[in-house]
Formats: sequence, C-alpha cells, structure tokens
Amino acid sequence: MNIHEYQAKQLLRKYRVTTPRGEVVHTSKAAGRVAEDLGGSRWAVKAQIHAGGRGKAGAVRIGTSAEEVVQIADQMLGSTLVTAQTGPGGQRVSRVLVERASRIEREFYLSLFVERDAQRIVVIASAEGGVDIEDVATSSPAKIHREYVDPGVGLLDFQCRKIATAIGLGTRTTSFTRLLKRMYRLFRDEDCLLLEINPFIEAEDGDLVALDAKMSFDDNALFRQGDVAELRDFDEEDPKEVEASGHGLNYIALDGSVGCIVNGAGLAMGTMDAIVVHGGRPANFLDVGGGASPEKVANAFRIVMKDPHVRAILVNIFAGINRCDGIAQGVVQATRDQQIRGRKILDASGLELIQAEDLDDAAGKAVAAAQGVAV
Ligand code: ADP
Ligand code: MG
Repeated sequence: MNIHEYQAKQLLRKYRVTTPRGEVVHTSKAAGRVAEDLGGSRWAVKAQIHAGGRGKAGAVRIGTSAEEVVQIADQMLGSTLVTAQTGPGGQRVSRVLVERASRIEREFYLSLFVERDAQRIVVIASAEGGVDIEDVATSSPAKIHREYVDPGVGLLDFQCRKIATAIGLGTRTTSFTRLLKRMYRLFRDEDCLLLEINPFIEAEDGDLVALDAKMSFDDNALFRQGDVAELRDFDEEDPKEVEASGHGLNYIALDGSVGCIVNGAGLAMGTMDAIVVHGGRPANFLDVGGGASPEKVANAFRIVMKDPHVRAILVNIFAGINRCDGIAQGVVQATRDQQIRGRKILDASGLELIQAEDLDDAAGKAVAAAQGVAV
C-alpha cells in the first residue's frame, strides 16, 4: 500500500524527523489561507498523487505571495498530471500540499527498503539527491552507498557515521545519525517496505530536513497497523482492484483483451504466459484462491467483465484446491445476472462459453476469440 507525501510527512513528524511545516488542502482558497497561517515569504505548492517526478512536470512550484499560492493551487487542482511515473493516462490532482519553502544548501538521497535477496533492510544514500536515483545507479554506481542492517542488532551508530562520511556530511554526523535512526525505527515499527526521502536536504541554517517522502507498506501487515491502513486512498487505485480486494480476490488490472480467472498465483502467471505465447495479451491477473464459493467466482467474473477492453475470458481452474462444479455454478450465475440486465447486452458482448482440452488449447482459443476469430 502506498500513501501520499503529506501523509508520509505526518508519520515522519511522529518519529521526530524534521519536515517543512505545511498542510494539505482541497481548494485554492484554503491554500492561500494556509500560506498566511504558516507565515514566511516563500511557499512550496505540491500536487499530491501517488507518483513522483512532479518537480520536472511542473507540479512542485514555489509561490512568493499568498495570491500566487492561490493561483498555483488553482491551476493544479482538478488537472490531470502526467509525470515520468504516472503512465500516459496521468493522475487527477484532488489535493495539494502547501508548505514553507526551505532554503536549500545541498540535496541528498536517502532510502530504506527490504532487499529480498539479502533478507535485510538496506539503507541507500547518495550525495546526488533530488534527481532520478536510477540514473545515478547506472551512470555512476560508485556514488551510491549501501548499508545492510542486521535484524538481530538493528541499525548501528557506526553505520550511520559511515554513510554520513560517504555522502559528505562528515561534519554533521550526530544529527544525521539521529535522523537515520528515527527513520529506521519508523520503518521497522510501521511495517514499511520502502521509505524514500528524495531529497533530504541540508538547509542554509544547517538543519537536516525531509523535503519529499515516499512510503509503501506491507499489505500483509496492515491488519496490525490500523492507523496506517486508514491512510489508504481509494481514489488512487483502480476501482476494479478495490472491489476485488473487498471480495477477497487477488486482482490486478492489465492492458490486454483476454480476461483470466484462475486459482493459484503460479497457475495465473502460467496462464498469462500461455496467452502471450499465442499472440494475445492478458487483461488482468486474477487469483480466486482455494475453496472459492460460486459467489466469489461470480464476483470475479463481474469484475473482469467491467473492463471494456475484455473480449474473451479464459477460466483455468485447478480442481485440487477448488470444486469445479462450484466454479461452473459461479460462471453461470454471473452470466445469468447479465441476462437479467438485458439479453441485448449479452448478444452485443458476444459472450459465449468455449470448451477446451488443455491450457495450450484454451489459451489459443481465448486469444482467437479476443481477436474475433470463430473457434
Ligand atoms: P518529486 O520527487 O515528485 O519531483 P519533490 O518533493 O522531490 O517532488 O520536489 C522536487 C524538487 O522541488 C525538490 O528536489 C526540491 O528541490 C524542490 N522542493 C520540494 N519541496 C520543497 C520545499 N518545501 N521547499 C523548497 N524546495 C522544495
Ligand atoms: Mg522527490
């Protein structure tokens, strides 16, 4: 689960990591009021979407009067923002963060994440902050510094000092160590998968400040992180995925035309591969899990059919963990519901059931059906 920058900054403040003072707003009028309340003479206005790359896309702007802050917020709110990270469709901006603009001396990169291969939390830091870290990693890997944290002892002071020295903060090791250890505590206690501060800055007055923040959390730990779970923003997610998770279905929307209803993640991946082998593209990943009831399958069907790009649906069920009669009932139930809404929709959709002998046969037929070829 991902959260917004303003929410991540609230969490950072809870762990006493310094961030610029600010507030999130939904209207340009409120943006002006917040600027006045915050005081000062320069404010950053930042579009809140679950994607970075905003700086380059003009979605982080500095205003030098309350009127200008209102103007900037007015332009951002309601607009659809396309950045290097949003995909071509962009994301709609429904709130902006207004905060005091910092006077920046230097920008750094700092992040913690779970590195699966190492089975450790790793700290990554670089003096090349504020820019795309992936570019730095490929063009000059020596400028990226890593420290692996032993889960038995946690992040140690000497590791923080080592990083501080590596990125040129040798004179400020005490404050850097304090900052990094607080971030580590937040990461561990809140079940984060990623905590990225790009940039964290040394301000002109010497303070170390988190100017941006990106956080994601382990979905499997949300049951014990009630406060974090409440930060979820459904507007940022595909409504079909939200509905599917409400029905206990593992569903991820993709951009192809062959819908997939499968049980088991491995089988789902195999089914998607088979579709691609036959020249088609899967419209989704969907794992109904084991022991799925007819209702659950019917819901899966309805969700898949909501995608206007779906031309055919491939059902691939392994009987070992599901009763196939229940699955069949679910399929019939879902198509019947459609009939109640009108025979016309059914006719127009060309919905029909095709029988196949094995996965290869099924994938071939599904792709052909999606391409409008009679099977
Ligand atoms: P993104 O990563 O989406 O581009 P950032 O929050 O990192 O957005 O902002 C981009 C750049 O804008 C930063 O590298 C920094 O130079 C500047 N910036 C962001 N917030 C502030 C602020 N409060 N005060 C001054 N400059 C800021
Ligand atoms: Mg950033």
